[in-house]
Amino acid sequence: MTGLPHHIPIAMPVLGAEEQQAIQRPLSSGWVTQGREVAAFEEAFAKYVGADHACAVSSCTAALHLALHVLGVGPGDEVITVSHSFIATANAIRYCGGRPVFVDIEPQTFNMDPGLVEAAISSRTRAILVVHQLGMPADLAAILKIAKSRGIPVVEDAACAVGSEILVGDRWQRIGVPLGEIACFSFHPRKVITTGDGGMLTTNNAALYERLVKLRQHAMDVNDRTRHQANTVIFERYPELGFNYRMTDIQGAMGLEQLKRLPDIVARRRQLARNYSRELASISGLMVPQEPTWARSNWQSYCVRLPAHAKQKTVMQSMLDEGIATRRGVMCIHREASYPAELWRSVEQSSNPADTTDQNQKPLGESEAAQDHCILLPLYPQLTLEQQQRVAQALYRAVSIN
Ligand SMILES: *Cc1c(COP(=O)(O)O)cnc(C)c1O
Repeated sequence: MTGLPHHIPIAMPVLGAEEQQAIQRPLSSGWVTQGREVAAFEEAFAKYVGADHACAVSSCTAALHLALHVLGVGPGDEVITVSHSFIATANAIRYCGGRPVFVDIEPQTFNMDPGLVEAAISSRTRAILVVHQLGMPADLAAILKIAKSRGIPVVEDAACAVGSEILVGDRWQRIGVPLGEIACFSFHPRKVITTGDGGMLTTNNAALYERLVKLRQHAMDVNDRTRHQANTVIFERYPELGFNYRMTDIQGAMGLEQLKRLPDIVARRRQLARNYSRELASISGLMVPQEPTWARSNWQSYCVRLPAHAKQKTVMQSMLDEGIATRRGVMCIHREASYPAELWRSVEQSSNPADTTDQNQKPLGESEAAQDHCILLPLYPQLTLEQQQRVAQALYRAVSIN
């Protein structure tokens, strides 16, 4: 499909001669996995977001797993998060043996509703995993206030949110500073910058950082660059159970170039989002995404809510027939077969065992409605205004006839 001249895909990475050239360095040096390039990428990334430390890993899923693991999430522990997210968010909790506690979202931002967090806390709550969905910053100020008062660490799933900003006091800060304990990013091609696959953790906590860099490499107490450069024999040790979550130096070299492009990519995406909001204004009943006053999205995705009468799948098919790819709203993890009801809990489930009404029913209504009545429109830097107008016209026709 993507080969058709008039086809508009949902997303497209920005890759060029710079990336092609950069990956020649590890290829010709012979050092292809985690080494100098990864270290340089980490340093540049930490500087860009404004964090003390950055630790590169093989994916954001790996980053989320490590983040929860170093915060001590273990069997029987609960982690408060949203169901309305990519499945990796909740999977990371389960890799630790933990139980996801799903709270509903706010319909305008598609992010965790801070008003529901307090009620979700139990004696087993070990962390709050906040997602900046589709690149839109979540209401961290409100969530951190609750978390701090209860002594619960916050992890940010910033998979989509590199380059997004949040107003803290009177200063705009990039997501990843981090405001919680650890923030986790993804470099999958569907995100704003890519290393093929890949992830990054940022933190200002030096002790957590020391553990993260060891755990991503089987908890080995000396890394192989140190051993490689040493002129005395070094025997390494493995004091605890670790993982292989390394990023390769080929990815690191690519990431450095992608990071250089990031400011332009974010600026372009913001312009495209403004264009859409203007072009789509005439479609009655359609709701376009809006930034809260304290948030600036990187517009990793542009998610519109269809008019009440429109059928999501029919609209998407009509647009596809015109050569325009769309995606449905973000999935709901609790609706998947891999998440049977006994594996998770949601906020409105009664804590009184005698009360059997409402268990796992209706509480995630906003999440389900967003999945069922929203669609994502194509948005990538190469998209032209003329193509955006084609998308807007196709959507107009699709909701008028369906
Ligand atoms: C993409 C995504 C992930 C997973 O990222 P990977 O790098 O593919 O592991 C996690 N959480 C959210 C919200 C995502 O969108």
